[in-house]
Amino acid sequence: MFSAATLRTRLRSLNPLKRVLAERAPESGTKLSHSQENTASDSGESFSMSAVNLEGFLAELDALRKEVDSKLGQEDLDHLAKMERWGRTASAIGWGLAWFPNPISPVALAIGRTSRWITMHHVGHKGYDKVPGVRPERTSRVFAKGWRRMLDWPDWMVPEAWNFEHNILHHGATGEERDPDLVERNVEWIHKSDMSQAKRYLMLAGLAVSWKFTYYAPNTLRVLTHKHLIKQSSETTPPVPRKDLWLKCYLPYGAINFVAIPALFAPLGPFAVASAVFNSVVAEAIENVHTFAIIGPNHSGDDMYRFTTRPKNRAESYVRQIIGSVNYQTGSEAPEWARNIVDFLQGYLNYQIEHHIWADLPMLRYQELQPKVKALCAKYGVPYVQENVFARVKKMSDIVVGNTTMRVLDGEKAERAPLSNDGLAAAAE
Ligand SMILES: [Zn+2]
Repeated sequence: MFSAATLRTRLRSLNPLKRVLAERAPESGTKLSHSQENTASDSGESFSMSAVNLEGFLAELDALRKEVDSKLGQEDLDHLAKMERWGRTASAIGWGLAWFPNPISPVALAIGRTSRWITMHHVGHKGYDKVPGVRPERTSRVFAKGWRRMLDWPDWMVPEAWNFEHNILHHGATGEERDPDLVERNVEWIHKSDMSQAKRYLMLAGLAVSWKFTYYAPNTLRVLTHKHLIKQSSETTPPVPRKDLWLKCYLPYGAINFVAIPALFAPLGPFAVASAVFNSVVAEAIENVHTFAIIGPNHSGDDMYRFTTRPKNRAESYVRQIIGSVNYQTGSEAPEWARNIVDFLQGYLNYQIEHHIWADLPMLRYQELQPKVKALCAKYGVPYVQENVFARVKKMSDIVVGNTTMRVLDGEKAERAPLSNDGLAAAAE
């Protein structure tokens, strides 16, 4: 049977730094990974970087960015405020109805919590730092920093740890071995085990309902704790003390959402308090599944690429971000009235391709850029994958349980190349 302890142990073993450091001195004759061995079978349909006019593609992307930068302004700040208002309203409805068991309260609470993560994501990426007229509280320098963590993003994760793991390590090395969130590599241990398919799906379900505190909280804190070791290129990676994990992640979040706020219902009696705890716990499960569904498939599927070397230049880097990311259905292609609803419910992660080209843009600008980037990719022959989020959950699940494998970019598949640590050390600055 699936065991939470086993999952925690396995997740603890997913130390991205350890993997990065291990890569620096590969043994000769290192066995190729599962996906690398299988690339030859689909090489006929593989994408080739050399077939793209990289110079022209980069120039047109840069022109798009320049055009958008010149338009940043109050419209972006109003849009951010509206998305935050929707999330805060959902939270207010959720807590307002939490005094008795009902389905509306946990769903609303879950939407509110997801909305805070999405705000953290885009503000933490410096998406609003350069918008004229932005308040300091909505810049990456102030948002969720210090005491503001409890106001802006009271989550399992430490904001600084999230920013480092996601903005630097994941975005800086998407689809590479050093990417802490490379799904296929993170589940290699499942593929190598003799676990039945039923158990693999059970494990996936267990991860989906718990991943914020079983995967993200410990792993983001670990990489932040070892940040200095990345800079020093140290070979040792001491574990994060369990006490730190509890004091910085589990206790603050648990105290607020499962103790302090439910305790406010005490005047209504013990049943109301118990109901508030119950609704909050159910909301937690819903939020985990929701965010797992919109984040987990962003870079996984048998039509997604992974990489064994560093990109040679900025143009290659953009192309790799595109062929290693997937868009879901977007608000930019929906009727005007539904635009923000479609995007809000998918956390603006449905623009994953545009987000991975330009992470430091306000959410609103992805609606404008998406059709233009898609047209450019068609013009230059760069694969642009876009599909319904539910279809992508299926594709991610197939990777996790071992039904399918990802592609590896051509020219890089013969051997796992030794990676210089220079880029990572620079990224950790
Ligand atoms: Zn991001």
